Amino acid sequence: MARVHACLECAKPKPERGDFCSTKCRQTFNNRRKLRGAELYDLYMALRFERDAAKQLGVFQLINRMASNFRQEDKAERAGRRSWRRTQAVIEERPYLRAVVTSVRIGRQGAAR
Ligand SMILES: [Zn+2]
Repeated sequence: MARVHACLECAKPKPERGDFCSTKCRQTFNNRRKLRGAELYDLYMALRFERDAAKQLGVFQLINRMASNFRQEDKAERAGRRSWRRTQAVIEERPYLRAVVTSVRIGRQGAAR
């Protein structure tokens, strides 16, 4: 069975390689992700690192509502096509997330203390 390759932004058929039919479609798709990501970032970080305050303020529900609003926009403006990348592709680009030991290096490596 032949696989249909479609642009992630406009859904037009496209060559096999890449996710988009044009630079414009790639930019449109990624700019929307940037804007939506920026909206989510502060709430998500509060949820993860200021858990008590976030819980009191109902941040998890707000994040879910935001995602639902994004999905509604997708349905209205993108004929329901998803606006996010394949989860497996995102994970595969970040093998460090699956590493057993995660370390964050702060400051200069090997600096004398
Ligand atoms: Zn396109």
